[in-house]
Amino acid sequence: MGGVSARLEDLPLRADLRGQTPYGAPQAALPVALNVNENTHPVPQDVADDILDSIARALRDVNRYPDREFTALREGFADYLGHGLTREQLWAANGSNEVLQHILQAFAGPGRTAFGFSPTYSMYPLLTRGTGARWVSGTRGDDYTVSASDAAAQVADAAPDVVFLCAPNNPTGTPLGLDVVEAVYDATDGIVIVDEAYFEFAPADARSALTLLPGRERLVVSRTMSKAFAFAGARVGYLAADPALVDALRLVRLPYHLSALTQAAASAALRHAPVMLGMVDEIVTQRDRISATVEALGYTAHESWTNFVLFGGVDDPATTWRALYDQGVLIRDVGIPHHLRVTAGTTDETTAFLDALASVGSAA
Ligand code: PMP
Repeated sequence: MGGVSARLEDLPLRADLRGQTPYGAPQAALPVALNVNENTHPVPQDVADDILDSIARALRDVNRYPDREFTALREGFADYLGHGLTREQLWAANGSNEVLQHILQAFAGPGRTAFGFSPTYSMYPLLTRGTGARWVSGTRGDDYTVSASDAAAQVADAAPDVVFLCAPNNPTGTPLGLDVVEAVYDATDGIVIVDEAYFEFAPADARSALTLLPGRERLVVSRTMSKAFAFAGARVGYLAADPALVDALRLVRLPYHLSALTQAAASAALRHAPVMLGMVDEIVTQRDRISATVEALGYTAHESWTNFVLFGGVDDPATTWRALYDQGVLIRDVGIPHHLRVTAGTTDETTAFLDALASVGSAA
C-alpha cells in the first residue's frame, strides 16, 4: 500500500463531528510552561520513590487484569475527601476528563443536552458533543460571576439533562457560591456536576459542594489529582456522588479502565497527600503576586481561587502571547478578547513570566 494519507473529508466521519476542532493547547518545549494549569513543582523524591515501589509491586501481577472496581483507590479517595464519604460514593478514571465523559455517556447522549455558563472549561462542549448530545451555553456577568437567581432562571429555561458548574471556574478563576449550586439543583431534574478541579487553591474557609451531597442524589462533585496534587501525567480524576449514580457509571466505563499501574500510583500518592499538597500555599502566593504585578503594569487581574490568573486589558493577545513565547514563556490565549491566562509557577518561573510581560510593554 502507498503512503498517501486520506483527507478527513473522504472518511465516513459522523456528521456531527465534521468541522469540529480537537482540544489543542500547544505543547511546546519552552523553559517556562505556564499554559495548562499544571502544578509546576515536581513530586518530591522520597514520595516518587515510594510511588515507584508500589508500581513495582503492581508490575509483578501485571499479567492479570486489575481490580475492575479499584476498591483500594476508592477507599483512598473517600479517606482523603472526608465528609463521611464511603467508597460506594467514589468513582475514578483517567483524569477528571474521563470522569466527566462517563457522566455524559450515562446521562447525556443523543437527543439530550448539557449546559454550562460560558466562558468555562473548553472540554465540556467537546465531551458533550462526543456523546452525541447538544451543548447549550449560558451567560455570566461582566466580572464572570453568576448569581443564584440568574443561574436558576437560565437553567430552568434551558431544561438541560446535565449542568456543569465549574467551581472555581476555568479559564476565569471565578469562585462560585454554594447558593448557586443549591439554586441550580432545585431548578432542574437533571444531573448537576460541580467541577472542583481547582478547589484546593481556594481560601481555607471555602466550603466544598461535597457538603451539599446528602439528600441530593443528582449532584456530582468532581475533582482531579492533576492540579494541586502535582499528578497530571498520571491521569487520575475522581468524583463523589450518590452510590446509585456511581453505579450507573459502571454501565459506560470500559472494563478495567484504570490500569493496575495507575491504581498503584494513585493509591501511593494519596498516602502522601500532605506532602503532595505541600506546594499549594506557595502556588497561591505566586498567583496573588501575579495578580498584583499585572495590575501594577496596567492590566486587570480577575479574582482567582485557582492556580492561574486571567488578565484583561491586553491590546492584542496574539502579539503579547508570541512576544512571551519568543522569550521562552508559554502562557494561554483562551480566546477571550483582550485577555490572556497564566498559570502560577514556581517563584523563578513566575518571575520569568512577570519580567517578560513587563518587557513587552504596558497594558493598552
Ligand atoms: N476540569 C477543569 C475545570 C479543568 O481545568 C481541567 C484541566 N484543565 C479538567 C477538569 C481535567 O483535568 P484532568 O483530566 O487532568 O483531571
